[in-house]
Amino acid sequence: MPPRYDPRPLEAKWQKNWEARRLFNAKENPARPKYYVLEMFPYPSGRIHMGHVRNYTIGDVVARYKRMRGFNVLHPMGWDAFGLPAENAAMARGLHPATWTYENIEYMRRQLKELGYSYDWPRELATCDPSYYRWEQLVFIEMFRRGLAYKKEAPVNWCPKCQTVLANEQVEDGRCWRCDAPVHLKELDQWFFKITAYAEELLADLDQLTHWPERVLTMQRHWIGKSPGAEIYFPLAQGGEPLTVFTTRADTLYGATFMSLAPEHPQALALTAGTGQEKAVGAFVEYWRAQNRSRGVLEEVTKEGVFTGSYCLNPVTGFKMPIFVANFVLMEYGSGAVMAVPAHDQRDFEFAQKYDLPIRVVIQPPEHDLRAETMKAAYEDDGVLVKSGDFSRLPSAKARDAIAAFLEDTGQGKEAVNFRLRDWLISRQRYWGAPIPIIYCEGCGLAPVPEQELPVVLPLEVEMAGEGGSPLARLPSFYQVTCPTCGGPARREVDTMDTFVESSWYFLRYACADYTGGVLDPSRVDYWLPVDQYIGGIEHAVLHLLYARFFTKVLRDLGMVKIDEPFQRLLTQGMVLKDGAKMAKSKGNVVDPEYMIEAYGTDTTRLFLLFAAPPEKDLEWSDQGVAGSARFLNRLWNLGHDLLPELRAVQPYQGPGTELAAGLSEFRHKVHATIKKVTADIEDSFHFNTAIAAVMELVNAFYLAAEGLPRDEATLRVFREALEAILLLVSPMVPHIAEELWQELGDNRLLSEIPWPQPQAEALTVSAMTVVVQVNGKVRSRLSVPAAATDEDIKKLALADPGIEKWLQGRPPKKLILARRKLVNIVV
Ligand SMILES: [Zn+2]
Ligand SMILES: [Zn+2]
Repeated sequence: MPPRYDPRPLEAKWQKNWEARRLFNAKENPARPKYYVLEMFPYPSGRIHMGHVRNYTIGDVVARYKRMRGFNVLHPMGWDAFGLPAENAAMARGLHPATWTYENIEYMRRQLKELGYSYDWPRELATCDPSYYRWEQLVFIEMFRRGLAYKKEAPVNWCPKCQTVLANEQVEDGRCWRCDAPVHLKELDQWFFKITAYAEELLADLDQLTHWPERVLTMQRHWIGKSPGAEIYFPLAQGGEPLTVFTTRADTLYGATFMSLAPEHPQALALTAGTGQEKAVGAFVEYWRAQNRSRGVLEEVTKEGVFTGSYCLNPVTGFKMPIFVANFVLMEYGSGAVMAVPAHDQRDFEFAQKYDLPIRVVIQPPEHDLRAETMKAAYEDDGVLVKSGDFSRLPSAKARDAIAAFLEDTGQGKEAVNFRLRDWLISRQRYWGAPIPIIYCEGCGLAPVPEQELPVVLPLEVEMAGEGGSPLARLPSFYQVTCPTCGGPARREVDTMDTFVESSWYFLRYACADYTGGVLDPSRVDYWLPVDQYIGGIEHAVLHLLYARFFTKVLRDLGMVKIDEPFQRLLTQGMVLKDGAKMAKSKGNVVDPEYMIEAYGTDTTRLFLLFAAPPEKDLEWSDQGVAGSARFLNRLWNLGHDLLPELRAVQPYQGPGTELAAGLSEFRHKVHATIKKVTADIEDSFHFNTAIAAVMELVNAFYLAAEGLPRDEATLRVFREALEAILLLVSPMVPHIAEELWQELGDNRLLSEIPWPQPQAEALTVSAMTVVVQVNGKVRSRLSVPAAATDEDIKKLALADPGIEKWLQGRPPKKLILARRKLVNIVV
């Protein structure tokens, strides 16, 4: 009786063995081609969930596969350890966020080790460690010196539940991306990173990312949102600073009959002075600033506004345009002021009807005559200009350029490009984050913390309890400092940085996690970067993935890296679903990886997640699927153990040379065809599911061959070749069982040290095949037939076979049927 497949002890054994042999600790070696595979690092929230396991298993298969393909592989792991959830979770449990975070890291690290991932653990980093964020503080100071980090008072997104501000990217449909509470605008003095300085490059370089999912590229393009158009200045009727408007439709300028300002527009209140409209506008502004005014919500909302009492002049018609404050205008688009063209913009049309404002048709569609009096909706498409002075009869596209040029010539405007992207708001009024290294002095103003005083360590002895902002603001020993310029009393910044700053460069730091000489060790970073394959969730399409691209470009301009883009290839893996929904505690459909490892073992868990769906697709959890994966590993285990005693004694067949019998030659063909298919499936598209299916088929064929073929030396040698190939092919996916069977074959090398198998050309072409011959339904002979034989050849060979001739006794058969080129049936 062979030993029973008992995964837990053997998995623990191999995990210890790998760690002891430091097999996955990468060393820079310029003589070897490198491969950097990375999964988005986890938030130490408590325990690993099934989504993590899927993400990291995909990465691990890639890492192990690439090692066997001869690459020097870097595959690190770390912890995105700062942030609000840790702070809130810790407070809810009466713990310090540091205690909570480090305990979770301990627990989750052990879980990752039990999953057998081939990580380079000495490079592990936690972003809440001062040895990490001190370099981030240095980068902040360099950015501050170059104007890329700046402070300004602006209306910002405020989450009342999280008690902190949020970046635009962290507001989804007017709600906080973390807690889903409605976000309000609040006027605050905050720190920003000038990501808009890179808008053009961030957009253009998307074209280089040919191995990113199209969906992510589209989302980034849309988020950056470049629109070419014109900037137009509208003089105020009472004089003073004109209103600046950005529009993509300069061709409609002659139809602009009023002006709409966002409630946050800096001139909104000033324009009411002395008009009697102060109160009405003030109340309107106050009301709408507190409302959820995201794009999605505004589509639904009734368009309303209030007259400021002031007018501006249309620069080309001289028309006196009333200025409104309107709820549907966003400060984040253009300049927060919109020239309203009711005939050619639906929102302006609705607004004009409601407030009885003039509608002027200036664009005619080609086929009919548009009249303001009979319009039911705005005509928004391009057409031909009418009632537009010298520009009448021009088509829209030409008119846009001509009008922009005219405005530029007359000093009333210019061609301009508008980006939807806004600067990245990075200050947070929370405790569990990296302190912003800035000092305020009443006499000298704002100064960075001197470099030799870095890091500004986040103090751990704080009073966490209580409402109302960060405990750092209540800690004089933290905020009372001396001014680095005049030596007088000064105040330290108490805001911390957005945790997305830490994740914007961790992948660079892995290259040199122990480096103490600066932010990055140039030689090591140049060797390992860029990341060759990045793997993570689609939810980061515009958050982390945009910030990381920006930060890489900033560090390049600071001379710290040489690359333009951090991630060469991106794979966004699908979700793990159960009963059709994403696994979530609230839905009660969670399968705990720990339970799976306990019940089935790591290899079965990994195999199921890889086999159930291609990596980029969602995966539906299936207990039957898990059972099927366990069954396959048992079949592999039993097959190996049935054959091991005999196979240990022979060398693998290496062909060509010896002539193999037909059945054996066919089996060997299957082995090499499988090597070819598995390699192609992994290499081209990481389609591990079809790769696994091919190996399963091969194992089935192996069972048949093991039953049907005589166990002579040639057969055993081919069998050994086949078993070795199977173990090598499955080793990236189910490394423990593969390692165990491999060792039992008598080879003491570890699988990661063995080259990936290559299909042999000579084995891929089948030279002969077996045809079974029946006479009156009974098997009477087996023929070896050249693979190139025609159907007629096969029939002739069957009739000429000495084992058949005697049944025919010289008479022609009554019937002769050839089925699937495998079976000849003769009726006599
Ligand atoms: Zn929130
Ligand atoms: Zn000073």
